[in-house]
Amino acid sequence: MLRFISYDIVFQEIPGEVSLAINISNCPNICVGCHSPHLQDDIGEVLNEHVITELIHRYGSAVTCVCFMGGDGNPGEIEQLAHFVKHFTNGQLKTAWYSGKICFPPECNYNNFDYIKLGPYIKEYGALNIPTTNQKFYQIVDECMVDVTERFWKN
Ligand code: SF4
Repeated sequence: MLRFISYDIVFQEIPGEVSLAINISNCPNICVGCHSPHLQDDIGEVLNEHVITELIHRYGSAVTCVCFMGGDGNPGEIEQLAHFVKHFTNGQLKTAWYSGKICFPPECNYNNFDYIKLGPYIKEYGALNIPTTNQKFYQIVDECMVDVTERFWKN
């Protein structure tokens, strides 16, 4: 079961989009130097289609994308919710996933997303906006994952 601790409307996580970022708990990745250690605990409210529906009713007209921040403990549910967002909004809202895993889970279909961030946070390499970062940011174009990480390095 997915749980989330907060949500926010953000501008930098997905370049060119206004995103409703949902911060999901129970992160299994245990990155050294984790920026949000509380996200490693199984805390917060249940995140399901009913909650997503409520959030879209409240904020859907103010955003262009729903971004799932975390959820590596249950990738299948993230994929299902992303699929639900696309179906429920008739594709009006894009979907994104910030995963701390190195690879996209083979059991999931990345075509349910418009954007995918992969990779754990490693302090010496820096965050996504640092050119030395180990993390990758992809846009799904014509059913392919295209590496567009450099978008974070432009002012
Ligand atoms: S993926 Fe993010 S929340 Fe999870 S341990 Fe790593 S830095 Fe922390």
